[in-house]
Amino acid sequence: MVLLPRCVFNRFLQQFNSGNQEKATKSLLSAGFPSALLAGHRSKATAVPDVRERTLIAVKPDGVQRRLVGQIIQRFERRGFKLVGLKMLQVSDTLLSQHYTELRTKPFYPRLLQYMTSGPVVVMVWEGHKVVQASRTMVGHTNPVEAQAGTVRGDFSFHVSRNVVHASDSLEGAQREIQLWFQKKELLNWECCDQTFTCEV
Ligand code: UDP
Ligand code: MG
Repeated sequence: MVLLPRCVFNRFLQQFNSGNQEKATKSLLSAGFPSALLAGHRSKATAVPDVRERTLIAVKPDGVQRRLVGQIIQRFERRGFKLVGLKMLQVSDTLLSQHYTELRTKPFYPRLLQYMTSGPVVVMVWEGHKVVQASRTMVGHTNPVEAQAGTVRGDFSFHVSRNVVHASDSLEGAQREIQLWFQKKELLNWECCDQTFTCEV
């Protein structure tokens, strides 16, 4: 069963009844209605940008200690992305070893573990068109020495061991990390009132 907010359904009806089927379809899709259920409208729907992509962003312990949480959130809000999950936590070794599973054999791994568990982190899920790729660009190169000015790492850090922020590096990585850090009920599907002004939906 698909539950839609009343305002979305009303807008759909209004557009559909006024003969604008394509716009009505787009409203449904942007509200999270599965495109697979749209049957005959699917071919038109493929032109709609995917605004439901999600990524995991975390302010690491150095970022929290240095009171950078607000500035980092602000950058994602300013860009137009939608916040759908947010929490602060002290990370366990278990969670971290699952998160950084590919890095377990790296020489820096023990120090990375120590750093990431040294204090609280603020972890978030952001949603929007191509948000995985865009947020990697916003965060900057892993090594802050090579990170461009204007990126989070390029503006707030100078050494790879304290690079302030984490961002998922691929769609598959994002899905895996979101499931690892968040329970389904901790993520909210909500309608952003400016979404038709940030992307064609
Ligand atoms: N890291 C480190 N030394 C290195 C490489 C990486 O301490 O030589 C840390 C750094 O905090 C980095 C994290 O390990 O952000 C994860 O590494 P990855 O290669 O996944 O970089 P990221 O995806 O964070 O840019
Ligand atoms: Mg990585």
